[in-house]
Amino acid sequence: KLENATAKAELGRASWRLFHTMMARFPETPTADESLALKTYIQLFARLYPCGDCASHFQKLLKKYPPQTSGRNAAAGWACFVHNEVNKRLKKEQFDCNKIGDFYDCGCGEDGGEKKE
Ligand code: FAD
Repeated sequence: KLENATAKAELGRASWRLFHTMMARFPETPTADESLALKTYIQLFARLYPCGDCASHFQKLLKKYPPQTSGRNAAAGWACFVHNEVNKRLKKEQFDCNKIGDFYDCGCGEDGGEKKE
């Protein structure tokens, strides 16, 4: 099958969105188990990412820059950094990681309760 750059880019945008939103919702002070869960998720994400080329490049990046999962700020900053490394390779603009704060909103409000309006 032919490569479809539009589908590949769309998958990328959707994946980055989930990736960064997950970091934005990660606990500020996680338990050891939560940190391990995030680290494991990131490794499996890199291994199972559907674009094989992308996955192998990203796995190399993770070796060079191991996932930071000690807390929300570290995780969000690390994710922004590695996304910027991918941007560099694809000759895209660098994102200002100081602006990552409120950029990714899960739309889930405060959570905790059953109903959200
Ligand atoms: P994207 O890079 O998809 O970014 C989406 C939005 O996120 C941007 O518009 C911006 O608002 C925001 N953003 C940009 N940079 C950052 C940052 N550093 N931190 C936080 N937010 C940011 N494509 C390939 O062609 N080859 C590859 O090898 C490849 N590898 C990939 C590896 C992974 C793990 C992922 C998730 C995607 C990969 N992609 C790859 C897809 C590629 O990164 C882009 O998603 C795709 O090209 C669409 O680019 P875009 O310009 O719309 O912005």
